[in-house]
Amino acid sequence: MAELTESVNGLIKELSQLPGIGKKSAERITYYLLKASKEEALALADAIRAVKEKVRYCKQCYNLSEQQLCEICRDPARDLSTICVVEQPRDLIAIEATGAYRGLYHVLLGRLAPLEQVNPEHLTIAALIKRVKTEKIQEIIMATNPTIEGDGTALYIMNQLDSAPVKITRLARGITTGSVLEFASKEMLSDSLSGRQSFR
Ligand SMILES: [Zn+2]
Repeated sequence: MAELTESVNGLIKELSQLPGIGKKSAERITYYLLKASKEEALALADAIRAVKEKVRYCKQCYNLSEQQLCEICRDPARDLSTICVVEQPRDLIAIEATGAYRGLYHVLLGRLAPLEQVNPEHLTIAALIKRVKTEKIQEIIMATNPTIEGDGTALYIMNQLDSAPVKITRLARGITTGSVLEFASKEMLSDSLSGRQSFR
């Protein structure tokens, strides 16, 4: 049986390590790229290079940004007294899309998952606590996902903020438990923001 070339095997190997892409899909994408024009294929390579070289985390809220501070942290019209805590940048995008929130964010870059060895030090929790202590924050809205791990993460943060004179609220459970923020409809997210409940 004929062997694929080293480069072809290399690309299949790299692609098959991406989430949700098995060996079969990796092969399909590789053959597609082999047939595509050089410009088309290299545009993909360039796009990957650009995100890796230009995109970083906002040094204040850990949103994705191409500058030190993200667009939201730089926006003087935002309400500086409220921080909405989310797991991932995509959750922030989902809440922004509702247009119902004008405060700041804090992206945890994950959720606590002790079984997968994801502990507080792997998230941006310490930076959040520091913000609450040094900025004039009046309310923290916990918008972690309504899953066991999301709830556990919110509870952990709440305990860490025990002594801080700040109001802590949680998104109302318009979102079915277990569903993920990024897939919730705008209306539903908007409702759960306006109907948020006190967490302590
Ligand atoms: Zn930011």
